[in-house]
Amino acid sequence: MCWVVQERYKYVDKMENNEMNKKIRLGVLTSGGDAPGMNAAIRAVVRSGIYYGAEVYGIRNGYAGLIDGKIELMKASSVSDVLHRGGTILQTARSRQFMTDEGRKYALKNLERHGIDNLVVIGGDGSLRGGMSLAGEGINVMGIPCTIDNDLPYTERTIGFDTAVNTVLSAISNVRDTSSSHERVTIIEVMGRKCGNIAMWAGIAGGAESILIPEQPVNLEEVCENVTQGRRRGKLHNLIIKAEGVELDSRQLAELICNKTGMEVRIVVPGYIQRGGCPTANDRMLASDMALYAVDLIKSGKKRMQAIGISGGKVFGQSLEKALMVKRNMNNDYIRLAKILSI
Ligand code: ADP
Repeated sequence: MCWVVQERYKYVDKMENNEMNKKIRLGVLTSGGDAPGMNAAIRAVVRSGIYYGAEVYGIRNGYAGLIDGKIELMKASSVSDVLHRGGTILQTARSRQFMTDEGRKYALKNLERHGIDNLVVIGGDGSLRGGMSLAGEGINVMGIPCTIDNDLPYTERTIGFDTAVNTVLSAISNVRDTSSSHERVTIIEVMGRKCGNIAMWAGIAGGAESILIPEQPVNLEEVCENVTQGRRRGKLHNLIIKAEGVELDSRQLAELICNKTGMEVRIVVPGYIQRGGCPTANDRMLASDMALYAVDLIKSGKKRMQAIGISGGKVFGQSLEKALMVKRNMNNDYIRLAKILSI
């Protein structure tokens, strides 16, 4: 880790000599679904930008605010006391208007008005695609992956995922107590419309008997077999972690399991609880490290669209276009791990 950081400093110092007198103006926004760690990323963008002598502008309400001109200069103190807070102090939004040529024209005009030619976008897949749509317009866009779903496959981890998994884990622990006391089957429906990462991680780390993800068809026989086998072995509870995007509705699933096994089945949906809350140390570190990397790239003076990611503990930048083309697959090692450990 230290080696990586040192290398990065060398790189920036070299660039600083060349770019010494150039005033950098950069904008930062959060967009799409909020995730714990967004504030840590905003803070690191603002503080590292100011450290380099840049003017850093906060854009409220994501791309909607960019269109409406909700842009204000930030100071180091603007981001005091936010590191530990979930949500986003800049607010977030979804904007259909930004997806039109006219909407983007307004957005670009507002950036031009403030002399901003560097934009740090903190958000998920859609938000980074939004950044991509500014390609060719002279804006240097840096995408910082921040979504609880961990569904951007170019990076091993997105900011917010670790916190969301830990929140689900805490729900699993509470549910397990009640589930054991009443000898019930409990389905915990977690977030993930297309991506089963939260379910997979929380399911493995929480010792679930079955994990159901959108990437795989539901094997009802296997789920019911896990329930009856568990009963035979004297297990008092049976926890099924199911991502919301799984083809089978939770109520339908509960009914089918009840009919087949004769066990009482309850459904727990933690819902938006999974989005909020105090970010974990891992998410704060990731957000801080990725944000500084993005500002380092801006400081280097090269105009390019970059997605920031992490691989093997090392933060990197790669072409935003290429990053968004990487296909997502569920890791087969995790599927195997979950199967073996749930016997
Ligand atoms: P997330 O970033 O959490 O995946 P969304 O998919 O809702 O959230 O995207 C956030 C916003 O990004 C959208 O409301 C829209 O303004 C913008 N956006 C998404 N996809 C595109 C696209 N292909 N082109 C331009 N803007 C986009």
